[in-house]
Amino acid sequence: MATPRFTEETARPRMARLGAHSHIRGLGLDASLQPLSANVHGLVGQGRARRAAGVVVKMIQGGKLSGRAVLIAGAPGTGKTALAMGMAQALGEETPFTKLAASELYSLEMNKTEALRQAFRRSIGVRITEETEIIEGEVVELQIDKPLGGSMTGVEGAGESAAAAAAAAAAMSGGGKTGKLTLKTTDMETVYDLGTKMIDSLSREKVSAGDVVSIDKATGKISKLGRSFARSRDYDAMGASARFVRCPDGELQTRKSVVHTVTLHEVDVINSRQQGFLALFAGDTGEIKPEVREQIDSKVAEWQEEGKASLVPGVLFIDEVHMLDMECFSFLSRALEHPLAPVLVCASNRGIARIRGTDYRAPHGVPLDLLDRLLIISTAAYEFDDVRTIVKIRAEEEDVELAPEAADLLGRVGVETSLRYAMYLMTSAALVAAKRKAATVGLEDVKRCYSIFLDVKRSAQFLRDNANDYMYNEVGEEDEEVA
Ligand code: ADP
Ligand code: ADP
Repeated sequence: MATPRFTEETARPRMARLGAHSHIRGLGLDASLQPLSANVHGLVGQGRARRAAGVVVKMIQGGKLSGRAVLIAGAPGTGKTALAMGMAQALGEETPFTKLAASELYSLEMNKTEALRQAFRRSIGVRITEETEIIEGEVVELQIDKPLGGSMTGVEGAGESAAAAAAAAAAMSGGGKTGKLTLKTTDMETVYDLGTKMIDSLSREKVSAGDVVSIDKATGKISKLGRSFARSRDYDAMGASARFVRCPDGELQTRKSVVHTVTLHEVDVINSRQQGFLALFAGDTGEIKPEVREQIDSKVAEWQEEGKASLVPGVLFIDEVHMLDMECFSFLSRALEHPLAPVLVCASNRGIARIRGTDYRAPHGVPLDLLDRLLIISTAAYEFDDVRTIVKIRAEEEDVELAPEAADLLGRVGVETSLRYAMYLMTSAALVAAKRKAATVGLEDVKRCYSIFLDVKRSAQFLRDNANDYMYNEVGEEDEEVA
């Protein structure tokens, strides 16, 4: 009889990214929406804006925001993006968050409204419940063969296709490992053949005889559930941390439901024959035909009715919203009315500005009829204490040890220049400190970097002082932005 084989596709681990906002974990508000004094969720200061964001989150949870959106207005680097991310996280861990800079729409090789539509659908999660096959049992024996360089012996060809046998032979000659895993329940026992990847994941999880394990047949993911009670005499050897569980009964192979969350946009791309799912990795998903979207929408509605899927509205953050033109604004107004609309959070650092493509001026460069639907939250400039605390949080996030004087200096620099500049100084000072093999970033390191890297004000001053050395100098013309 052919022995069953595991599928060898192991899920790739997600790469840990250290984004600029990785320290933001929520809005940091208590039940009555008062900002918590301790920086539990990474957000510092900005109390009024955070309270307002908290009220918006409550409105969303109560289904009271439909047809409306949020505008966060404030100077650059005052935490507009951070606040929007905090809102998404306050809505739940799985809430999709999409960030789009309005100017990106003009550089894409697709129509602007198509790009906006994709951004909207990226911000709606589909939580799909799926039945998968799980093998769950107690490990009786784990036997790993030594690789037999080039030899064909030991290849289990019975019942398998010639191609699989050839692949197995190739794997073996390439130093691939083989082995056998014997699993049991109280009712049955089966021997499974193992390939290199399964052996690697078994040894990574340090699986040994007496462990109760659960293996996802489709992905090959192994989870150790604990030690079998039958082995409780091992207790002394294992220490108090060992968790003992019952040996499972019944069949080794059972069905379990698991939940995946994907976005509507991903479902669109996967089902668009023109694109194929590889487009998701290339990032170049092209335009999606309206028929595909209609089909997906009715399919998702079907799944919802059958209880197989539910929708998770996410947050779409559009930065520099004043860069949008009338066509985009009217798309937004219409999209907000859609029953499935995600929460739209716009941000702008402009005052009264011209609406792109028209001769009209309006607050934040946003047409009045859309503005009327926006709840406006404003962010304030940071004080010394806030800047210092934020820089310290970022230092912790980047594993940088800051001397108190260095943190104070960065705080002062941040107030004088900008929060972002202070953060860059912290990161570069950490490199300078590492270069001189110091464990802590000191005052000198920060001063050194301050002299190497100019902030905007000093850079502008330098340009003014040396105006004649530069080509295309336009000093003196009226619309100089950095005054
Ligand atoms: P904006 O979108 O207003 O230009 P960001 O949200 O990108 O500003 O803020 C710049 C940096 O400062 C980001 O790394 C952000 O996470 C951080 N930051 C801004 N405000 C806060 C805050 N109140 N608490 C913690 N971090 C903040
Ligand atoms: P418009 O399409 O002109 O921008 P809407 O029809 O969307 O405006 O109206 C905005 C809101 O005001 C909606 O909630 C609508 O139900 C309400 N509304 C507008 N006019 C009336 C009215 N005459 N009586 C009751 N509710 C109204």
